[in-house]
Amino acid sequence: MGADGVRSRARELVFPAAEIRHLGLYGAIFSVPGTYGLDHEGLMHSVPGRCATIMRTGGETRAALDFASPPLAYDHRDRRGQRELIATAFDGLGWEIPSLLREMRTAEDFYFAPAAQVVLPRYASGRVVLLGDAAHAPGPGGMGSGLALIGAYVLAGELAAAPDHHTAFARYERELRPHVEPCRKQAQGAAGYLVPRKRAQIWRRNQIMRLLSHLPGKNLINRLTVPSPIALKDYAAPPDRREQAPAPRRPATAAHPADPR
Ligand SMILES: Cc1cc2nc3c(=O)[nH]c(=O)nc-3n(C[C@H](O)[C@H](O)[C@H](O)COP(=O)(O)OP(=O)(O)OC[C@H]3O[C@@H](n4cnc5c(N)ncnc54)[C@H](O)[C@@H]3O)c2cc1C
Repeated sequence: MGADGVRSRARELVFPAAEIRHLGLYGAIFSVPGTYGLDHEGLMHSVPGRCATIMRTGGETRAALDFASPPLAYDHRDRRGQRELIATAFDGLGWEIPSLLREMRTAEDFYFAPAAQVVLPRYASGRVVLLGDAAHAPGPGGMGSGLALIGAYVLAGELAAAPDHHTAFARYERELRPHVEPCRKQAQGAAGYLVPRKRAQIWRRNQIMRLLSHLPGKNLINRLTVPSPIALKDYAAPPDRREQAPAPRRPATAAHPADPR
């Protein structure tokens, strides 16, 4: 099983001609100490081509530093080199950015990735199956984290239920793919929205965000922007494992409603 992200080595081995669409954006996310005065909220600071976000949800504060760029050559195992890319892109900017860059240097959960979409004709080949971004990265704004977790749940469930892995892989893809496509479509415009290239675009994006947070039906709007809610199946455990089977799950969606991005 290849769950090794957008730059999946497992995918390269089984689908060497996979289509990878670079969306013109790179981003880092990491935890920062303190609250920055936030409570289930986020703050964004943008200049053309760069955007810093601080968000606090679920008792954790995280920073995201995103910048527009054509494809870059870098070593995806070299965290120090990736931190340098971010430091260079945000060098000289004000607001909280100098302190965020200091925190980034030591953040243990530092995550760096290109905004890219992965388009595959199939998620499995023979005994190899791909999941998460390796199989179907939608890019930012496409609910990629939720899709990855749901895909893992569906794959595990279908493997437990099916007589063989061929059947399980086919059922896993049949369940998941219809939800992946709308997420991918939604993400296609999101990179420009997240990191606008022009001052006028930043101004327009900020006005929309300000307006949204004051609308009375904002929770409903949040739900309506979920491209494709998924009702998860309850997979029965095989008879010999039924004793330890977890409690049935409630339907879930790939959305993370508290995530301002
Ligand atoms: C700028 C940006 C903003 C985003 N914003 C959001 C958002 O707001 N909401 C959202 O839901 N999603 C967002 N996403 C997408 C989200 O980050 C991904 O969809 C999600 O992380 C995919 O999870 P994954 O486990 O499939 O892959 P990853 O999180 O990439 O994890 C893959 C893991 O495999 C490891 N790995 C790679 N190769 C090997 C190997 N050979 N052996 C062992 N391990 C290996 C990597 O180190 C990594 O830890 C964003 C993405 C970007 C780039």
